[in-house]
Amino acid sequence: MATLTNPFEIARETLRQLASRRVAPTPDHYQTLYHEIAGTKPANDATFPDKQLRSLAAALPKSSPDQLRLARLLDESIKAGNWEDYKTHLSEFVVNLTEAQKLTWSDLISDLLKQWDARHVGLTSARKRESLEHVLTSSGANPETLFTRLQNLLRSWGQGKELENGGESSIGTTSEIRLSEQSTAAESELLPELRELFAFTLETAIATQLVESPMLASDAKILANDIRTAVRSEQLQEFLTRLKRFAFKLELLAEDQAELRQSLLGLLRLLVENITELVLDDRWLHGQIEVVRDIIEKPLSQRSIDDAERRLKEVIFKQSQLKASLAEAKEAIKSLLAGFVDHLANFADATSEYHDKIEVCAAKISSADNITELENVLGEVMKETRAIQLNALHSRDELRNTQQKVKESEARIQELERELEQTSDLVRHDQLTGALNRRGLEDMFAKETARAKRHDTALCVALLDIDNFKKLNDSMGHDAGDAALIHLAKVCRETLRPQDTVARYGGEEFIILLPETHLEDAVKALTRLQRELTKKFFLHGNDKVLITFSAGVTQMQDNDVQNTVIKRADEAMYQAKKTGKNRVVVG
Ligand code: GH3
Ligand code: MG
Ligand code: MG
Repeated sequence: MATLTNPFEIARETLRQLASRRVAPTPDHYQTLYHEIAGTKPANDATFPDKQLRSLAAALPKSSPDQLRLARLLDESIKAGNWEDYKTHLSEFVVNLTEAQKLTWSDLISDLLKQWDARHVGLTSARKRESLEHVLTSSGANPETLFTRLQNLLRSWGQGKELENGGESSIGTTSEIRLSEQSTAAESELLPELRELFAFTLETAIATQLVESPMLASDAKILANDIRTAVRSEQLQEFLTRLKRFAFKLELLAEDQAELRQSLLGLLRLLVENITELVLDDRWLHGQIEVVRDIIEKPLSQRSIDDAERRLKEVIFKQSQLKASLAEAKEAIKSLLAGFVDHLANFADATSEYHDKIEVCAAKISSADNITELENVLGEVMKETRAIQLNALHSRDELRNTQQKVKESEARIQELERELEQTSDLVRHDQLTGALNRRGLEDMFAKETARAKRHDTALCVALLDIDNFKKLNDSMGHDAGDAALIHLAKVCRETLRPQDTVARYGGEEFIILLPETHLEDAVKALTRLQRELTKKFFLHGNDKVLITFSAGVTQMQDNDVQNTVIKRADEAMYQAKKTGKNRVVVG
């Protein structure tokens, strides 16, 4: 067959051959047959794609000496136009890369296993799991990021272990680490470590010291947990705010404890000062010990100690005053009795003398043998009898006199006692109802307002006045009125909280201090008191008497003093009276 030169003819012949040889008409087969017919060489044998291969080689990583060497070899095979060499070096490159990576992962994983089992300072296994999970979830699908983060994490664990084994103080090592930090990555490695130390301090050093304040202890534990998980900056910011609040509460607690200690010392001093007195009077000693025992038995609070201190002062004062007077009165009674006994002795002497004389007389009578003699003896008997009668009369008068004087002494003692109760500057309680009196209220008011300011808590003040009390007095008598006042004070104490203060402000008016209470809760407390009074009747004989009161309640404001706040409560109480009584009005 003659060689064809015309491309049309070559193309036509190629198609014909494809058909006659029953070869599939693919571009490759067409090309091979075309060159066969035309007697030419395929074009791609001649042109080596060096441009594309070079750009491919350039895109490959060259970060290790091995990779650099392979890149150089690839370059050489392109220059030589050697496709086979290029293919060999490229596959070598890929194998090298995979091998390198495989090795690092297995190292990393075996390091992970080692670190997982090792003990690190301040790093629990729960904490390790948490940070590992964090790395796994935050690295996404990128194996390189995961690899680097895992490496960083293990390095930070490893540093924890060095702290333990190095024998250096942890502060020293930590600052060395900080000095060697060169990148932000190193900083973030250190953060979990510091966070853990912080949490550990909160849990073990602070929370355990707060056994008496379980709320604060649980705050410390919550904070410890939070600092472990606070990773974002806004979380850290929020944590800082709460930490500051926590520190402030700790400060307040310390102040309270200092105050408590001061009060206890005060009590102790009172006892010591009076220890000499204690020896003199056993009953008094028991009374004082009873007060102190009462304080120790109940959970210690500032309020109970204040109260005990006040009562103890009153007891000491009254007892010291009364003891002197009682000793005087006893002396008086003793000398009176001594005088009386002297008289009795005289009387006894006189009577025995009388009997002797009568006996002599009787002998004279029996031996008398004339009437004159008998008359003389009888005269003697009469004289002696009259003398003894006078003596007896005298003694009876003495006895009456002594009794009278003893009664007077007793009355004087009682009078003295009453006087002391009414006039002593130290008495802080109302003698009728046992509630605080005005002076006691003043003390309590100062204490509660200071406390409310210090803790920034609400303090409410209520003034209540019994309704139609005059009518009760007029119809049932003054004693029934007194009993009704005692009843009201008792129901107040039973219904309100122990920390609330009840004071008798005037005749049938009472002031109630409600610490740590907002206005709406204070109203609720007063309403509950009204309800209780409808259940706990005041009994007069067999009659059930319903006592009601009108009340004004107000909340202490920053610029308030005792007078302004009571005035506001009084005005509100007056409104309650005006609008129908038996109600609570806010002022
Ligand atoms: P209102 O409902 O407006 O308060 O009328 P009231 O009768 O309760 O008030 P008023 O102020 O007219 O009368 C109060 C009475 O309380 C007058 C006084 O005799 C009586 N009182 C004050 N102190 C005592 C006390 O210690 N014992 C007794 N039994 N009565 C007292
Ligand atoms: Mg009144
Ligand atoms: Mg009244």
